[in-house]
Amino acid sequence: MIEAEKPGLAIGKQGAFLREIRTKTMWIPLIRRTPAIKSKLIDNVRAVLYQHSDYRRKFLDKVGHRIYDGWIREKKNEWIRVSYLGGGRQVGRSCLFLQTPESRVLLDCGVNIATSGTDAYPMLEAPEFNINDLDAVVITHSHLDHSGFVPYLFKFGYRGPVYCTAPTRDVMALLQLDLIKIAKNEGKEPIYTADDVKEMVKHTICLEYDEVSDITPDVRMTLYNAGHILGSAMTHLHIGNGLHNMLYTADMKYARTQLLEPAVTQFPRLETLMLESTYGGKDNVLPPRKEQEEQLRTVIADTMKKKGKVLIPVLGSGRAQEVVVLIENMVRTGLLDKVPVFIDGMVWDITAIHTAYPEYLNNTVRKLIFHKDQNPFLSPIFSRVGSKKERKEVIEDTGSCVILATSGMLVGGPSVEYLRQLCDNPNNSLVFVCYQGEGSLGRRIQRGEKEINFGSAAKPEISPINMNVTTLEGFSGHSGRQELMNFVYKCQPRPKKIILNHGENSRCLDLASSLHKACRVETTAPRNLDSLRIR
Ligand SMILES: [Zn+2]
Ligand SMILES: [Zn+2]
Repeated sequence: MIEAEKPGLAIGKQGAFLREIRTKTMWIPLIRRTPAIKSKLIDNVRAVLYQHSDYRRKFLDKVGHRIYDGWIREKKNEWIRVSYLGGGRQVGRSCLFLQTPESRVLLDCGVNIATSGTDAYPMLEAPEFNINDLDAVVITHSHLDHSGFVPYLFKFGYRGPVYCTAPTRDVMALLQLDLIKIAKNEGKEPIYTADDVKEMVKHTICLEYDEVSDITPDVRMTLYNAGHILGSAMTHLHIGNGLHNMLYTADMKYARTQLLEPAVTQFPRLETLMLESTYGGKDNVLPPRKEQEEQLRTVIADTMKKKGKVLIPVLGSGRAQEVVVLIENMVRTGLLDKVPVFIDGMVWDITAIHTAYPEYLNNTVRKLIFHKDQNPFLSPIFSRVGSKKERKEVIEDTGSCVILATSGMLVGGPSVEYLRQLCDNPNNSLVFVCYQGEGSLGRRIQRGEKEINFGSAAKPEISPINMNVTTLEGFSGHSGRQELMNFVYKCQPRPKKIILNHGENSRCLDLASSLHKACRVETTAPRNLDSLRIR
């Protein structure tokens, strides 16, 4: 394995160096990019894969045999069935179970961060699901509502493949390890251990966008850019040798963002579309992005004038890096005075992973990095904050600044810690840039709650929310209502049936009825535990 800052140099013109190394040493070199910001997680993932390369060879061979040795079940009628084990009329714990006469595949396996208790997890107790029969798991992107439960499958003996893009593998491992850490900090028993996460990494098969791959004898899969976060994919399934084609979008953005190209709309074939509905309601039209960027600039500039601090709670991946690149751009072009930006541990680590996969970013950012040697992530205005002590210094010893910290919905994590320290000062600002789940502290503050208990019921610690609160929905990595409708209009070919998921009850239903009227296609919005016969 050759790690290089500029992989092109190690590959040589049209692979000349690779060939030379091969002929002279009889070894096959694998080229990997050294991330511009050092990432311990990537080092660890690469080390796990390297240490277990013998096991990996046997594992991949076994997977290959399962796919190409022919059917193991009786070949009778052809049918396709999808069961909703999570993510039906809700945002959180996305998990679809796809069955054909031959195949058993999970599409996503997430947790619901906004709640606790058993309804935080996918309903694997559904009678049709048996972990011992599972052929493959496909993960669309690293957000925990899509990937957070995967190590649990390994805890209970699953040893089959997990398909995703390389950035998804790295970021989800990081977020899962963080989930374990947060549970421990809160004195709870984590649902799985770091060893289960490692087991998952050992069984991950990374695919690139547009790469066609058989995953079972009768399911052929292609991942397409979803425009949502780094490495996020829409899953296209070609089932039963031409019997049916479906697309599971999972979370997707049909618009260009600071970081990513918009979701793909051209497919070789498409009959059934499974579409997200996070902002599917009639009135969920997202404000124009330019306007929202200007508003963020104003909030930061005004807060700087008042010598206050701006807290932006973020999911580690997605909005955080959008905001990072945007602020860098505003400072570089003089739209905003130079302001220190403190990026808390998890967000920083995920930003580092972005620097290992610049080929997944949009044209503009790629050009900055490759041709101008101007990597926005490396700007000196950014500093990493890692420890409790450093957090204290940011709050007490620095003046005006911007702070990005997880969790995005203010449920656990350092963002809550910052909020507790900053909330009573009217000179400070709180800016929401991502979706606030039902029941989360973020949603309560958005609704206007003015006093928050940061302690417990027995030992209350009440603080007033005096800081200025702003919600900027335009930064969303999800498509707004209009973008969702446009995506369907632009889909080539036009789907014959649309299934809505990943949205609150009313939003799924609203989008289902609007698409039915506008496109004259069959639409449905299943609830959890509903099963649909697709063919
Ligand atoms: Zn997501
Ligand atoms: Zn999601």
